[in-house]
Amino acid sequence: MKIISINAGSSSLKFTLFDMTDETVIASGLFERIGIEGSKYTIKFHGEKVSQEIEMNNHTDAVNVLLDKLVDLGIIKSLEEIDGVGHRLVHGKDKYSESVLITDEVVSDLDKFKDFAPLHNPANILGINAFREVLPNVPMVGVFDTAFHQTMDATAYLYPVPYSWYQDYGVRKYGFHGTSHRYITNKVKDILGREEFRLISCHIGNGGSITAIKNGKCVDTTMGFTPLAGIMMGTRSGDVDPSIIPYVMEQEGKNASEVIDDLNKQSGLFGMSEYSSDMRDILERCDNQDEKAIVARDKYVRRIVDYIAQYYVLLGGTDVIVFTAGVGENSVPVRRQICEELACLGVKIDLDQNNKRGEVVKISTDDSKIDVYVIPTDEELMIARDTLELINR
Ligand code: AMP
Repeated sequence: MKIISINAGSSSLKFTLFDMTDETVIASGLFERIGIEGSKYTIKFHGEKVSQEIEMNNHTDAVNVLLDKLVDLGIIKSLEEIDGVGHRLVHGKDKYSESVLITDEVVSDLDKFKDFAPLHNPANILGINAFREVLPNVPMVGVFDTAFHQTMDATAYLYPVPYSWYQDYGVRKYGFHGTSHRYITNKVKDILGREEFRLISCHIGNGGSITAIKNGKCVDTTMGFTPLAGIMMGTRSGDVDPSIIPYVMEQEGKNASEVIDDLNKQSGLFGMSEYSSDMRDILERCDNQDEKAIVARDKYVRRIVDYIAQYYVLLGGTDVIVFTAGVGENSVPVRRQICEELACLGVKIDLDQNNKRGEVVKISTDDSKIDVYVIPTDEELMIARDTLELINR
């Protein structure tokens, strides 16, 4: 069984082709600058990398090129080998609490919900339509970023604002990165060999969110109505006092969306350091005693620690903390700082283990009150697994 996982952006398309008999990656790649001059693709397979500039005016062109190349490069013998296509979909509002076979209704809902994810939902539709055109008989599955968080209760998902905002306009916490947090939850289930546990899953990359999970279900998460909420990120502020917005609008003569854009793209590590959104650059500057970089790093860590502490209380204690995504998987000093700040909860880090890399690494000591793991996330595999399951149903 071969399944393709697709993540379509407005001018890009990422793919991973899996052999689901053993869940191995056969090929992966990126199509970029679709509809823009200089469009190109990169395909990785059998340790090789093929890259070429080629005109692609729209997503259908990109899918045609992708499928042609898969055959031309001998990655598959024919398109018949593709059994299903799984799409990463961003916003399913409160209608989709799990993955679904893609139907006309799903596509029309993505369009209906586009105000909630104005960049992503239209791009997801482009990806779906392109595959529908080129592979009309292959079943497709949609995997929503918001779905895993649908188990939150009203106390978690409602904001303390007029109820009519929720009722009339859908203003509530939706949460994102759900596919990653679900993947981590399943991994922890496998590691512990049981279904009952209290988990805090920290997906900290360029974007970041932390999710509190009890017995496999999301109880609360840090991202909100949009991905701007919660912890501090590469270029996003995370939680701030909303009164800042009209004040800065007045000071800088900007409109609300321009200030929101600043909170999304000019804030976080980048905004505070006035240097970079990349944690590697920040840590390098910290080593050189750069004041702004030090405060940016410490604020970044503080926000994560604050939420872990909050979720520890919410869950009535915690069995496992997991670090994943770019910073979580790779940054030894950031993990160390977070764990050391959690010492009062009984977290004890094993510094040798923290230096290791691998599929799953336990970085807490045996006498730590909470087990701490680093687990690389794999949203693409989660999408492929859901696709396989739904087309076999
Ligand atoms: P992601 O969005 O999950 O791809 O994460 C990307 C981010 O991970 C980058 O912007 C970096 O800040 C961070 N990152 C990747 N590798 C490292 C590393 N070795 N040390 C610190 N941060 C890293």
